[in-house]
Amino acid sequence: MLDTLHRIVQEVNAARGLKHALGIIVRRVAEAMNVDVCSVYLLDQEAGEYVLMATLGLNPDAVGKVRLQPHEGLVGLVGERAEPINLDNADQHPRFRYFPETGEERFHAFLGVPIIHFRQVLGVLVVQQQAARQFDDDEVAFLMTMAAQLSGAIAHSELSGGIDGLRDDGLPHNSGLQAIPGAPGVAIGRALVVYASADLNAVPDRRSDDPEQEEAAFLAAVQAVREEVRRLADSLAGAIPAEEQLLFDTYLRLLDGSSLVGETLNLIRQGNWAPGALRQTIDKYIRAFTEMEDPYLSERASDIRDIGRRLLMRLQKDSGDQREIPPNTILVGYEISASQLVEIPRDRLVGIMSVRGSGNSHVAILARAMGVPAVMGVGKLPIGRLEGKQLIVDGYAGRVYIQPSPTIRQEYRRLIREEAALTAELRRLRDLPAVTPDGVRVRLYANTGLVADLNSSREVGCDGVGLHRTEFPFMIRDRFPGEEEQATIYRQVLQAFAPLPVVLRTLDIGGDKPLPYFPITEENPFLGWRGIRLTLDHPEIFLTQLRGMLRADIGLGNLRVMFPMISNLDEVEQAMALLQRARDELQDEGMPVTMPPVGVMIEVPAALFQLEDLLRRVDFVSVGTNDLTQYLLAVDRNNPRVGKLYDDLHPAVLRALAMLIRTVQGQGKPISVCGSMAGDPAGALLLIALGVNDLSMSAASILRVKRVVRSVPYRQMQELLAQALTMQTPAQVRALMNAALEEAGLGSLVRAGL
Ligand code: PEP
Ligand code: MG
Repeated sequence: MLDTLHRIVQEVNAARGLKHALGIIVRRVAEAMNVDVCSVYLLDQEAGEYVLMATLGLNPDAVGKVRLQPHEGLVGLVGERAEPINLDNADQHPRFRYFPETGEERFHAFLGVPIIHFRQVLGVLVVQQQAARQFDDDEVAFLMTMAAQLSGAIAHSELSGGIDGLRDDGLPHNSGLQAIPGAPGVAIGRALVVYASADLNAVPDRRSDDPEQEEAAFLAAVQAVREEVRRLADSLAGAIPAEEQLLFDTYLRLLDGSSLVGETLNLIRQGNWAPGALRQTIDKYIRAFTEMEDPYLSERASDIRDIGRRLLMRLQKDSGDQREIPPNTILVGYEISASQLVEIPRDRLVGIMSVRGSGNSHVAILARAMGVPAVMGVGKLPIGRLEGKQLIVDGYAGRVYIQPSPTIRQEYRRLIREEAALTAELRRLRDLPAVTPDGVRVRLYANTGLVADLNSSREVGCDGVGLHRTEFPFMIRDRFPGEEEQATIYRQVLQAFAPLPVVLRTLDIGGDKPLPYFPITEENPFLGWRGIRLTLDHPEIFLTQLRGMLRADIGLGNLRVMFPMISNLDEVEQAMALLQRARDELQDEGMPVTMPPVGVMIEVPAALFQLEDLLRRVDFVSVGTNDLTQYLLAVDRNNPRVGKLYDDLHPAVLRALAMLIRTVQGQGKPISVCGSMAGDPAGALLLIALGVNDLSMSAASILRVKRVVRSVPYRQMQELLAQALTMQTPAQVRALMNAALEEAGLGSLVRAGL
């Protein structure tokens, strides 16, 4: 059973669109369960009706025509109850509704299960049989498992089906895809798909200007892979059984035969570029093989996939990606890396759409730093087909519109105009202080990471840098940067703001910030080897960085050093000892370095409960609400499935912060907040009321927060905080804060798209 399930799900995932996917489902389920009918009804959100979308066994002409209100018929009942309904004689049930066009009067037995995705009923999967009988437990369980497994694929193909016009009609085209807000702002542009090397699934179709050159490149790749396989076969001759050697013959046959190679060449001649043509052929073959009943033959799909990967790798190696980046580019990818992001000229990039990740992934943080609207966690989508398509990215609401209708486009153009007006208005605040109407002074610092941030932070004006993430220069190189190299980068940052303070945070890789040249594979990366844990285990890397920082500060004196991910007092002591060692070494070498103020990030719950001990050892603390929220709520900050549970306005987070801030202030040590909460108008209000006067945020947020600070009296912030601290759920806190911001005329700062 498991095998069958697995195979059907695989086939559906590889489908070309909704229509194709549903066709596979009804055919395969009917076959597997040996029933007369299998049908899928999907809920048309706009019309509020269930529509028969695919069937095997009912009259095919009824597809698209049979429509039921949610309170009608047995299908409606399954949806209403959100649980299976199993009847031996459906026609005797009071909710039975007969549709003559289906020809279903012959079928007595009925089993319907809901298709649910993230608590929402998307549709109903139904099987029927002539004989009047109850379906047994195993059958019900099978159909339920099937529906649960397929719900994600259906949800996404339903929404993306419009891309190629592959879908039947009757379902909304333009409702947009719900994702997670990554960076505020809205953008209209065209998709430019980036993909990890050798990720065949993500290769987009693209028209080539020179089919002959594409053809030559492809043939050269075929030749190179052929040689590669032969070499591999020779080197393993004798080492593996003769039978296994046959695998290589299969590979060579695939590469010699006219089919795979010939079909790809045909597609190239029709105008697709070589990688796109290759993906199309490989997809087709994989589908054909997976559908085969014979387990040996269906396993061959993996050989095809492997061949495809090898050919693609070769094509990439030979050509490199030398695309021209058009203006108004929206960068689209499964998982966009920092280096892919910075390769796009800033003046051409208007938006980002990432299939994976969430609002606190580092790409989102980077996007906020660069002021580029972004949406994250869009979910499984055939992004290859988006290349060149028009998209709207709504970074406030976390929505993406693919090929939007003229009305939606018009609405968003209006939003973009309003947004530009708001930005112009905010610019006027640049040289005004961040003081509340009743006289409380707040200091606004910038979070930086890229050299580009330095300019944007200075343009908007800030009181210094509260968090400089040092990992980006590590991420965009193919090796660890050396001491000299690092010293130059850090000096640029320190100099850009001197004499204002700049907090350089030591390397915080691991978790969701991998280095391509230092791969770490862990089951649980956020609970694993990251931040200070990793750098203490590699003192050579740590010392190089600390020396670079100290050297950069010579003659400037505005450096502050901060350690991330502290969960243990020993870590602070060991890190301090290494910093002192770096200072001593440099002084011995004759460099006039001095010991900077040292702080730690409070971002692991353990630190909350050892605060006093921690504070005795450092000069300041900065709260990393991104990680603190993730660890307090046990919600992976990158996992879109639980993205809705991640909220730094959660009452538990607010109460933890209240306790934390009270303790730090009791000890008279400076405290700042540098997580995204500080740059969120609602979060900033609450933090100020809690007594934090130093907030650090991306440059794009500084003027917005300044506007909020200058509009809302401290007294009112405190009243809001008192109310927030009595609330039970994050939604209640959000509603309270949004209402207050609206009332203060600041709604446009948190507006949620359309
Ligand atoms: C945080 O965790 O809040 C933080 C500022 O650090 P990062 O987002 O880089 O993990
Ligand atoms: Mg952190």
